[in-house]
Amino acid sequence: MSQHITSRHHTHTVKVTHADHTVHIGGSHPVIVQSMTNTDTVDALGTALQVKELAQAGSELVRITVNSPEAAAAVPYIREQLDKMGVYAPLVGDFHYNGHKLLTDYPDCAQSLSKYRINPGNVGKGAKKDAQFAQMIEVAAKYDKAVRIGVNWGSLDQSVLARIMDENAQRAQPWSAQQVMTEALITSALESAQAARDIGLSENKIVISCKVSNVQDLVAVYQQLAQRCHYALHLGLTEAGMGSKGIVASTAALSVLLQQGIGDTIRVSLTPEPNGSRATEVVVAQEILQTMGFRQFTPMVVACPGCGRTTSTVFQELAADIQTYLREQMPVWKTKYAGVESMTVAVMGCVVNGPGESKHANIGISLPGTGEVPAAPVFVDGERTVTLKGDNIAVEFQAIVDAYVKR
Ligand code: SF4
Repeated sequence: MSQHITSRHHTHTVKVTHADHTVHIGGSHPVIVQSMTNTDTVDALGTALQVKELAQAGSELVRITVNSPEAAAAVPYIREQLDKMGVYAPLVGDFHYNGHKLLTDYPDCAQSLSKYRINPGNVGKGAKKDAQFAQMIEVAAKYDKAVRIGVNWGSLDQSVLARIMDENAQRAQPWSAQQVMTEALITSALESAQAARDIGLSENKIVISCKVSNVQDLVAVYQQLAQRCHYALHLGLTEAGMGSKGIVASTAALSVLLQQGIGDTIRVSLTPEPNGSRATEVVVAQEILQTMGFRQFTPMVVACPGCGRTTSTVFQELAADIQTYLREQMPVWKTKYAGVESMTVAVMGCVVNGPGESKHANIGISLPGTGEVPAAPVFVDGERTVTLKGDNIAVEFQAIVDAYVKR
């Protein structure tokens, strides 16, 4: 039934290491989930706690802003606190404008980060740009760190754009605005990568991204980028937005590319809801990869949408409770029970599709719809095992899931 990508775009493997913990990006390694904090990095403890939250949600790399001397000075302390908390996710430093100074002036910061994100659009202008870019790459080479050359349409190197536009004006049949944008983004990324190589950084240390905020543009840019290089590729729709708009736009863009074998690491850039959790973007990224069948992070909960046949909220509540429970248990379960993440749990609202879906899951429950006998048959590995009744269905069903995992 399931359809898989025909082939993965070939890329060089980049190792991102902290202590004895290594994350592999590219090659035949699974697509990596990453995210970024939104705390002030100067607030070292607050930043460490948010990194911990993101890492525990499943972010395999976490990026932090390094935008000032105070922030650079805080980075080693953040790393130290994380190590004390048992959080070993590699940290990526996000540098703009003054990265060359910060990486040079704060060697402890440069060493405690595992990877640097460099935006060639705001490294500097003219001759300064080349010198400042070289300064950062030399630090990366000296400490054996990986680098992401992260180009962004919102901060594209204007000298590259002007050059591509001039060249386009000479064409008998000028390119469209989208083609010009695509070419400028890719040129900026590939020329910067080549400059890093010329300075001495190996191809196994370079990841590239070219982010835009429009889905069709992102797909066009990465399809071309993949044809033109074998650097590991980081995917992300920048400024995706809030709530369902951000989730849908990111999912649409990333899914098309991942299905074509393009992308070695992803970030879903969601604007958090007021009081919402930053970790939502990690959950969404995991769900994109899991629902497409590329990775398995947590048992899948299959739940029907509900309809006029079930007017109570019991089954929605049970589905939500079970999903939360499974996510919370995963850090412990993963260390004890091999393969638990591939489990499927069905929570269904009535007899129409309830027993059928429940039989196909590892464990399923078919709750009674309106007017049905108030009983909920439970299916384990396709067999009806017990029928739950009364007010404790949620607790009893959770206990059945627990027992199944342990068995
Ligand atoms: Fe409606 Fe029942 Fe189908 Fe759920 S399983 S959507 S309650 S008909």
